[in-house]
Amino acid sequence: MSTHPSHTPLPALAQERRVVTAIPGPKSQEALTRRAAATSAGLGLTFPVFIERTQGAILQDIDGNSLIDFGSGIGVVNVGNSNDLVVNNVIEQVQKIAHTCFTVAPYMGYVEVCELLNELTPGTHKKKSLLVNSGAEAVENAVKVARHFTKRPAVVVFEHAYHGRTNLTMALTAKNMPYKEGFGPFAGEVYRMPMPYPYRALSNPATLAQDSFEEISHRIEKEIGVENVAAILIEPIQGEGGFIVPPKGFLPALSEFATKHGIIFIADEVQTGFCRTGDWFAVNDENVVPDMVVTAKGIAGGLPLAGVTGRADIMDSVHIAGLGGTYGGNPVSCAAALGAIQSMKDEKLADRAKHIGQIMGDALRAMQAKYPVIGEVRGRGAMQAIELVKPGTKEPNTAAMQEVIKYCLSKGVLILTAGTYVNVIRFLPPLVMTDDLLKDALGVLDEAFASLK
Ligand SMILES: *Cc1c(COP(=O)(O)O)cnc(C)c1O
Repeated sequence: MSTHPSHTPLPALAQERRVVTAIPGPKSQEALTRRAAATSAGLGLTFPVFIERTQGAILQDIDGNSLIDFGSGIGVVNVGNSNDLVVNNVIEQVQKIAHTCFTVAPYMGYVEVCELLNELTPGTHKKKSLLVNSGAEAVENAVKVARHFTKRPAVVVFEHAYHGRTNLTMALTAKNMPYKEGFGPFAGEVYRMPMPYPYRALSNPATLAQDSFEEISHRIEKEIGVENVAAILIEPIQGEGGFIVPPKGFLPALSEFATKHGIIFIADEVQTGFCRTGDWFAVNDENVVPDMVVTAKGIAGGLPLAGVTGRADIMDSVHIAGLGGTYGGNPVSCAAALGAIQSMKDEKLADRAKHIGQIMGDALRAMQAKYPVIGEVRGRGAMQAIELVKPGTKEPNTAAMQEVIKYCLSKGVLILTAGTYVNVIRFLPPLVMTDDLLKDALGVLDEAFASLK
């Protein structure tokens, strides 16, 4: 009989920025050489620092620098890096069951996560869920189920959309470089519609929602035929596309149109979900109730997990064993999700996201007033972005974006970029970031803009 080793908690990582070497430091430099020799050159690299430990809103690199995390691993660790409840649940769970495959021999964690998804996603109708490993896999499954239920082939998606990197989701994703270039041929029956992008719209802002909706509904009716459309798939706030927030009224009109024509309305909440925008889900803002909601990223505090939640009649329309996968809803990931969701409730992280959004929004608008390179500040809750332009124009300014990111990195603040035109800086802080840390990071950002030539 072996006894389980008990888990010894590590000493807390101070929630403060501390830069002790050049960035990257010497150890990271060496590690980068090994990385280049051992790993595919096709893998991108945003920050050239190797991370040794994380906690809360701090990432500590192998040279001992404490860096402020403004990216949350791309909107994943909403509950904070190495969140206590997640860590404890994971350790406890992996000692009990690491894997059985839910469709071979089930366990309760999977069911409990699905119960929570059914309860937390919008709408009081009867819902059911399915768990898989990644956002892309969840999107694929949502489309599979919608096609199976409607017996229709077409899927409507949008400009600037990002839905993943598998074959079907590459077809659903808008941007060619780097996501699609040379990776085709792509899946068929995918139809792309214009996305209302308020900052870059040519039409009158007051009528943008209505104008966009009219064009899209016309094209669906005349060019595809409503009776051929299985699903309309949309991110309620576009993530990789540059945090594009559609004008009020657009999502409700689209959802109503879908319902009227028996089209499944699928909200891709992979980046916007789990308190990020100040609500459980971004569609809550306009009380839109999707037929299906796709979740991933923030769901499990850093462990790989994704969900498809939908109307019970849709989710139950598939024959037995039509859905599944070896690892989908792995017990350890489910335990992590239960910890993460508990933490969101206990710490009222949706409210915290609103609070962060207020501080960030105010600071970013103050910077916009000082620095004409900031064309627009936009977002909701703790999902904010700035779009950089050549002053006095709306011409994308990729160079300024790169300089700002580089400056912040050198000072120990890690910030992500986005945008079809490669000119958006996006802020996705862990929702547990302290006000002090947030203000410190925003101060560094202000210095970065002041340093621009
Ligand atoms: C990240 C993302 C995906 C893909 O998720 P993966 O887990 O990387 O496969 C899909 N949709 C949106 C909106 C995303 O942000």
